Amino acid sequence: MTISANNPQLKSWIEVSENSDFPIQNLPFGIFSNYSTSNKRVGVALGNKVIDLYQLFELGYLKDLPFTGGDFEAEFLNSMMAHGKLATRALRNRISELFSEGNNELKSIQTHLEQILFDQVDCEMHLPVRIGDYTDFYSSEQHAYNVGCLFRDPKNALLPNWKHIPVGYHGRSSSIVISGTNFHRPKGQTIPDPEQPPVFGPCKLLDFELEMSFITYEGKELGDSITTSEADDYIFGMCLFNDWSARDIQKWEYVPLGPFLAKNFASHVSPWIVTLDALEPFRTSGPVQEPKVLPYLEYSGNKHIDINLEVSICPENSSETIVSKSNYKHMYWNMNQQLAHHTVNGCNIKCGDMMASGTISGNDESAYGSMLELTWRGTKPIKMNDGSERKFIQDGDTVTIRGYAKKDGIRVGFGEVNAKILPAK
Ligand code: MN
Repeated sequence: MTISANNPQLKSWIEVSENSDFPIQNLPFGIFSNYSTSNKRVGVALGNKVIDLYQLFELGYLKDLPFTGGDFEAEFLNSMMAHGKLATRALRNRISELFSEGNNELKSIQTHLEQILFDQVDCEMHLPVRIGDYTDFYSSEQHAYNVGCLFRDPKNALLPNWKHIPVGYHGRSSSIVISGTNFHRPKGQTIPDPEQPPVFGPCKLLDFELEMSFITYEGKELGDSITTSEADDYIFGMCLFNDWSARDIQKWEYVPLGPFLAKNFASHVSPWIVTLDALEPFRTSGPVQEPKVLPYLEYSGNKHIDINLEVSICPENSSETIVSKSNYKHMYWNMNQQLAHHTVNGCNIKCGDMMASGTISGNDESAYGSMLELTWRGTKPIKMNDGSERKFIQDGDTVTIRGYAKKDGIRVGFGEVNAKILPAK
């Protein structure tokens, strides 16, 4: 089935400003509620509007598709996603058709428009997916190198397995929350002086991690594997992801099993899931992988994606400062390899699993994806626009990640994910 919704010539009869993340070529999915409905519904962003898919369905605009009303009046996107890739592709194509210039099916019926279209500012967005399992990879070479330098030594920065395995760990899904959910500084055990016993208290080295995550469709049976060439069929879409990290807790606890309480107190996602279909035009090549990877990790075609990313910090009652500009294309391991590796042992994935990229750091110092790297563990503080300095994140700071892909005048964006840090409880 062709992805007709990606046609760069399309324009919508809904006005979309040039810098909008949500032109008709995007049509990302999310879960919203507003004054007109107490129940959560599936929405699609177009310009500064939200399209109510439940109303669209009820008013008869989604006939000949396999969905039911219950798929759209839903707490999460999962039941819609459960119909699989061809169904959600057909749905996005149909929405594109309805809202394209020249199509009058809906445009001319004012009473329907009032029930279907809402201003985004009037809508509350919710966690889009009931996340079953959450996995965090570690797939940016520059990030792994930087952390290796900081936690170990520059000569052996990359561990021997790193260029052979898309390294990852199983995280926790219960604390993944929607953008705008402010949270308290975590507390835990740290060891400020290695000669002394550990102490307990609020984390002193709170950090963000600039990441993206992808959300899966239902996978295969336990025992079966997904190949790199099949992986695209199992990926619904992507969002921005901030994997908050308590560096002082992490340093003390991570040996020998990896991150635990330093990572699971909160992670934030952006509300709109941009489909992998919508990102196809922005595919690009990845780095040459040397040494050669094992056959099950080989892939063909362009499997990386060119997505501009930035992070800002806004101190309380102040203005924001951009602290990092990176790009998703800097990944060493792509999603296809990550998914192939994740399932090569027969591990099954489920509809609504979330897999994060790991911190995305570019080669340039200004492209590092965490404060740990940007300030080189606090030795090079960042100057903020208001004159203050940051080594790590302070109480009252709001951290925002934004991202978009752009090519040939078409911009497909993710909006943003933000959160403010409150003092420890
Ligand atoms: Mn991470």
